[in-house]
Amino acid sequence: MGKDLEEYSRKRDFEKTREPSGARKGSGRERRFVIQKHDASSLHYDFRLSIGGVLKSWAVPKGPSTDPSQKRLAILTEDHPLDYAGFEGVIPEGEYGAGTVMVWDSGSYRNLRGRKEKGDENGLSMEESFQDGLVEVWLEGEKIRGGYALTRTGGSKGKERWLLIKMKDDEADARRNPVSTQPESVKTGRNLEEIEEASDVE
Ligand code: MN
Repeated sequence: MGKDLEEYSRKRDFEKTREPSGARKGSGRERRFVIQKHDASSLHYDFRLSIGGVLKSWAVPKGPSTDPSQKRLAILTEDHPLDYAGFEGVIPEGEYGAGTVMVWDSGSYRNLRGRKEKGDENGLSMEESFQDGLVEVWLEGEKIRGGYALTRTGGSKGKERWLLIKMKDDEADARRNPVSTQPESVKTGRNLEEIEEASDVE
């Protein structure tokens, strides 16, 4: 197991939760993203990008916007294993993150800072962008598409605050609000209640 998944494993009891155990780390070449709707102590959206063989993860209380004028707070949380991108179900009462998890959107991404630019001969890798505190990606999801920037704005280690902002491009649309108009799972078409009802987890 990669060192970066230790915190993920430490926080969970895999005898009790059906979340992936995190035994498998990726090659680092994966380019996946997932946004999970998580009805925990407070409803939020977990935005995850595969970087360096794990899912770098941010909790976004209001979820992503398609409007470039909307800055969405994104709190950096622990790395998750790649398998987590497919997880939909219920985390039992008393466990870390207890509540219902939905695969709200997912797809592939491109690294926009990987391009060669003046004074930036080779572009930046995703790992370098993350370390630099500015990640720019082109998302190819079903609900969320186009350029998004994640900018580190402060906070202490373990509670880093970032902002998730739609970049100005053809996919930007101030009138859309997929968080409210497209609430169902892209994996199963279910809403939160249906996922909860189908689960035998208490
Ligand atoms: Mn969460």
